[in-house]
Amino acid sequence: MSKNCIFCGAEIDDDDLFCGECGKKQDPEEKKRIEQAEAEAKAKAEAEMRLKREQAEREAQQRQAQIDKETEMRIRAEAEAKAKLEFEERQKREEAERIRNEAERKKREKEEQKLAKQREKNSPEYKAVMGRNFGICSILFLCTYIVPAVLVIPGLIYSANGLKAEKKANAIAGIILNLLVLFIAIYFMARPKA
Ligand SMILES: [Zn+2]
Repeated sequence: MSKNCIFCGAEIDDDDLFCGECGKKQDPEEKKRIEQAEAEAKAKAEAEMRLKREQAEREAQQRQAQIDKETEMRIRAEAEAKAKLEFEERQKREEAERIRNEAERKKREKEEQKLAKQREKNSPEYKAVMGRNFGICSILFLCTYIVPAVLVIPGLIYSANGLKAEKKANAIAGIILNLLVLFIAIYFMARPKA
């Protein structure tokens, strides 16, 4: 008679205690214990694998979180740098515009001053004063001959134009003084030489 090994199924004799193929003891308790040990080892290995997988997943999540954080920080830093640059550019533009406006304002002011001066020179009041002053100069520097010779005619023209002024006193004084100088000049020129 023969039987089969309870482990590997090889054919062995009925009274064999050990299998000739796999060498294991033909004891159901032993088989049970081995199977249990194998099941435990398998369960342990599976648990370890699960733990390792979970650990790996956690690490991957942490890495991803780190990457996300770094990305967010980089984006924020870039946005801040961009905002700073834009702010500086805006400031530069505003400063340039301010300088331009200031220059234009000064230019306008200068032109207005020039126009005002021009208007003043064209005013009868100014001409009246000039006519009077030319008359005074001609009288004061009568003995030089050249000053009255140069000033008396323009002085008369200024004074005549100055008559349109609201206050005519200067214009009238200019006409009197310049005519006086003119008459004195004519008198001396017409006087018979001694
Ligand atoms: Zn066997």
